[in-house]
Amino acid sequence: MKAGPSGPGENKGQPGLVPAALSGLCPRCGATTLFAAPAALADECAGCGLDFRKLERGGRFVGVVTMLLALVLILAALTVDEWLRPPLWASLVFWGPVTVGSVIFALRFYKTMWVYHQYEERQQP
Ligand SMILES: [Zn+2]
Repeated sequence: MKAGPSGPGENKGQPGLVPAALSGLCPRCGATTLFAAPAALADECAGCGLDFRKLERGGRFVGVVTMLLALVLILAALTVDEWLRPPLWASLVFWGPVTVGSVIFALRFYKTMWVYHQYEERQQP
């Protein structure tokens, strides 16, 4: 496993899913046009006109992903609370941003994964 940031880690010229999700890269032209809002897909690519809406169709497990993540976070919060017994303000300061950040990232990652998967399927006969 190589993790060099400058190393040629890509296969088939596609960007990795994590950087693609983080910067919202279009699966066709690689422009940062995939997301119109932090966790909402754009209708289409402003660069090449690829229809994201069409690719997103069928990706309906977003709600489940969010629920599962929320459950995991709540369990993690309860466990930390049990072990460390932090003051309430510390819990809020820590878990607020962590929860919001995780949910947004999970949604972005999930939607990116889905759109890329759909896009690749359409490339094959
Ligand atoms: Zn594009």
